[in-house]
Amino acid sequence: MSNASFKALVLREEGKATRAEVEDLDFAALPALDTLVKIDFSTLNYKDALAVTGQGKIVRTWPLVPGIDFAGTVVESANPALPAGTQVVLTGWSVGEKYWGGYSQYQRVRSEWLVPLPRGLTTRQAMMIGTAGFTAMLCIDALEAAGVTPASGPVLVTGAAGGVGSVATAILSRLGYAVTALTGNPAKEAYVKGLGASAIANGPEWSDPPRALETQRWSAAVDTVGSKVLARVLAEMNYGGVVAACGLAGGADLPTSVMPFILRGVNLVGVDSVMRPTPARLPAWERIVEVLPMDVLETITGKTVPLAGVKAAATDMLSGQLRGRVLVDVN
Ligand code: NDP
Repeated sequence: MSNASFKALVLREEGKATRAEVEDLDFAALPALDTLVKIDFSTLNYKDALAVTGQGKIVRTWPLVPGIDFAGTVVESANPALPAGTQVVLTGWSVGEKYWGGYSQYQRVRSEWLVPLPRGLTTRQAMMIGTAGFTAMLCIDALEAAGVTPASGPVLVTGAAGGVGSVATAILSRLGYAVTALTGNPAKEAYVKGLGASAIANGPEWSDPPRALETQRWSAAVDTVGSKVLARVLAEMNYGGVVAACGLAGGADLPTSVMPFILRGVNLVGVDSVMRPTPARLPAWERIVEVLPMDVLETITGKTVPLAGVKAAATDMLSGQLRGRVLVDVN
């Protein structure tokens, strides 16, 4: 195997620019980590789109094989808990940022980063869920851990037509929540309604900074956008409402005040999927399998691209032209 080669998308630094090309790599070029995985599928996440297009300071080592998640089969591992043939899924751990990632037919990673493929999923379905779907589930778990139930009242999902937002909308509606989807693009309204959203939010006020407190509208929210949008969400929360914040698609700032917290007891819960401890991962994956019908997953998967198509899809993602998830078929 050491003389054979395989395909990978490789990012190289050229001055201040990032060059992204599909290259033939030798196995000897892979990092010296304990587990070799033959990858079936990866996906395109917001972070991947930034990395591949050279934006956002995502890449922390050059050259880099990007791709923050993948699913495939263990070829060899120093970890006896992962014998050859074990199907696995990986999200996070700075893979695709600091460590080589999923846009490759093979990759070497640390065995402790791998989660056994949840029962009932194929590697393709696992990546249709991917980091975005896993994060959506963590957000919903966080809302429920803070006491939110379907009886609490309407739930808002921001960036609802994006990867995280699509899965959050679909799962919440299947759990019996009344979901309002915030989507900036009227052409995507039918899509988010098809996922189960019972109402759409898209008024011009979402582009403006909110007052310290606005009319109370939401018992809970999943926010993937940050910035002014998260500030408005906080200002519109019901008394005691809970917001799970996981994203910054609209910006990393948060122009808010303490008023929602001190006058309405609003709870802001941060959600991170990247460094989530391994034991907490499988339960979230298993819950997704339980609550998300696979036909809905097909609807959420907007398109499948080969390695050579990642760059164009990344550009489309950042210009808001995509909806749902993009699967990357590395083979
Ligand atoms: P997508 O690009 O698929 O979706 C983001 C959505 O946000 C878009 O579809 C759009 O929704 C909306 N949006 C984009 N730009 C703006 C803007 N300027 N103002 C308002 N809305 C905007 O990304 P993902 O779903 O993959 O990721 C969403 C966010 O979550 C990203 O910031 C990502 O980094 C973060 N994330 C965090 C994780 C964690 O562990 N904390 C894990 C995974 C993702 P619409 O079209 O409906 O308007």
